[in-house]
Amino acid sequence: MSFAPSTPRGARDLRSSDKACADDFCGGASHAKGVAPAGDCDSYEVEVLIVHSWTASWARYCPRCGKEGFDSVDGRKHTCARCDFQYYHNLAAAVCAILRCGDDIALVVRARDPGRGLLDFPGGFVDPAEDLETAVLREVREEIGLELAAPRYLYSVPNVYRYREVDYWTLDAMFEFTLTRRPVFTLNDEILDVQWWAPVAIDPTAVAFASVRSAIRRLCQGRVGD
Ligand SMILES: [Zn+2]
Repeated sequence: MSFAPSTPRGARDLRSSDKACADDFCGGASHAKGVAPAGDCDSYEVEVLIVHSWTASWARYCPRCGKEGFDSVDGRKHTCARCDFQYYHNLAAAVCAILRCGDDIALVVRARDPGRGLLDFPGGFVDPAEDLETAVLREVREEIGLELAAPRYLYSVPNVYRYREVDYWTLDAMFEFTLTRRPVFTLNDEILDVQWWAPVAIDPTAVAFASVRSAIRRLCQGRVGD
């Protein structure tokens, strides 16, 4: 299969008409085209993700017949015009761990792209045949060396994860852990550092993903489980 990023027919680019949003945690981006009113950033970010994913028509050649014309109109369903092969680029499940200690939360500094050097929650993709709870405990153990238990599910947030020119829709499940003291971390090679932050002190432009900004915004607003 050949991967070739392209802008499909009908793709829109909100960035060309950005307007500043009053809420810093939307990433300082826009509420252009009347998609969402300023301040309604949850709706806005979902729209941004939709527009972003629209540009994810990365496959030109059919993996079955090898011919060109393996098109998608929405970045998700890909159909071969010659042999009728179909492929659904469906979303992937992912987990995030919100580690709280007092008024602060632990954020990792990513060692790799996407978002190298930016802040993120510990977490990652759910493995095949794995449940969300097992995945978040595994990711925390692998990335920062903590053995935790009893993950508390909060809510889920859609996101787009661009890896090597391919956009992956994800649905990020947020889990909360409350710690009574700051632990010693053992980092793997995906993580440069772990930092404790008061949510209101975090610079949204230093955060890697829209889903993480959304969760931090909810923490700033005192919205924990909604
Ligand atoms: Zn084909």
